[in-house]
Amino acid sequence: LGGSISRALAQMSNATVVDEKVIAECLNEISRALLQSDVQFKMVRDMQSNIKRIVDLESLAAGANKRRIIQQAVFSELCNMLDPGKPSFTPKKAKPSVVMFVGLQGSGKTTTCTKYAYYHQQKGFKPSLVCADTFRAGAFDQLKQNATKARIPFYGSYMESDPVKIAVEGVERFREEKSDLIIVDTSGRHKQEAALFEEMRQVAEATKPDLVIFVMDGSIGQAAFDQAHAFKQSASVGAVIITKMDGHAKGGGALSAVAATKSPVIFIGTGEHIDEFEVFDVKPFVSRLLGMGDLSGLMNKIQDVMPAEQQPELLQKLAEGTFTLRILYEQFQNLLKMGPIGQVFSMFPGFSSELMPKGSDKESQAKIKRYMTIMDSMTDAELDSTNPKLMSESRIIRIARGSGRLVRDVMDMLEEYKKLAKMWSKMKLKIPKNGDMSAMT
Ligand code: GDP
Ligand code: MG
Repeated sequence: LGGSISRALAQMSNATVVDEKVIAECLNEISRALLQSDVQFKMVRDMQSNIKRIVDLESLAAGANKRRIIQQAVFSELCNMLDPGKPSFTPKKAKPSVVMFVGLQGSGKTTTCTKYAYYHQQKGFKPSLVCADTFRAGAFDQLKQNATKARIPFYGSYMESDPVKIAVEGVERFREEKSDLIIVDTSGRHKQEAALFEEMRQVAEATKPDLVIFVMDGSIGQAAFDQAHAFKQSASVGAVIITKMDGHAKGGGALSAVAATKSPVIFIGTGEHIDEFEVFDVKPFVSRLLGMGDLSGLMNKIQDVMPAEQQPELLQKLAEGTFTLRILYEQFQNLLKMGPIGQVFSMFPGFSSELMPKGSDKESQAKIKRYMTIMDSMTDAELDSTNPKLMSESRIIRIARGSGRLVRDVMDMLEEYKKLAKMWSKMKLKIPKNGDMSAMT
């Protein structure tokens, strides 16, 4: 999807004259790509006519840049498609709520339940986990292991085969224990599909969840809409989580899931590990969908904002998979010089939304400057290390003191660095060793 859309947009920018024909071709190309990426026909058609309307209106203004307008229109239409217009239920501390997870077997429910519990535990909640999957042998063991690692209370049974009974018992038990976030994991498979949906209906009826979360594998094909719709009908789904976004999936099915459930995406899963879990942020997600978070997009942007003489050196380092704090520092310097940085940061798939505050570029700049001050208090060895996450606690305290920042700021900075370094290490194989970018697309 991303590839063809960015290609369509690129072709359009290459055309010297952007007239109606070029716009129509571009829109057709984008529509084809969206259809291929499991987006429902009706949604694509709506988007197409919305964009035509916007471009027509805007083009009335003399000298308007149509390329920019259509690019922005596609971007904001995709953002709109991901926004159902109402927020989902959010749990409140010390106010007991029940959250039920549904989704097909293998979508990542059990893993995501624990991530969701852990995320809230870090925020001061008292979460608990109930295993109502009695279909799959080993389901309880898996949940038990995950929960034990994260020190989250759990409930389940090896003997009982009635999922409704277990769910009710678990919810009651944790209500008594004053858990404020009771998470119910369910089965994703049955002898017959109809039986699975009937089971979801019964579990939901018995536990009266405040929120039902539909978990979907980000790489799912055309089935996304129907699958989401089927779960929505058996239990009233109120939110969506897309998993396995660390792989090649661009998550185009998210558009269908939002449309089918009329619920927002709230988190994405970015790995098997418990903390590989991010609050969903629509703009970086759409950037990625459009291929703007791709390596080639990032490279073009780097070439735009970076002094030419620095480029070969950076490309060489990228080819080696080396990403040190010093490289990050140099990139920060370039970005502050060149701006607007928000746009550039949306190219980095690994950057959390923290670094790109919703508001202004000013906020991002302040954050970057803060991070640079912290790095100024580090030693050369630390800046050039390929493993600064092993930095000792005493060093972190010293660096915080030296830069006049909080220990938490230093930890935040290292956390951002870690995410980027991880992304970088995944990229390394894709970059030609000689750094010759022309070979890549
Ligand atoms: P369930 O059957 O829906 O409960 O799915 P599981 O939680 O058992 O997950 C199925 C597989 O997907 C497991 O191997 C998980 O480790 C893996 N998985 C879940 N979420 C993610 C993710 O975000 N990224 C990756 N790479 N793997 C994931
Ligand atoms: Mg499971």
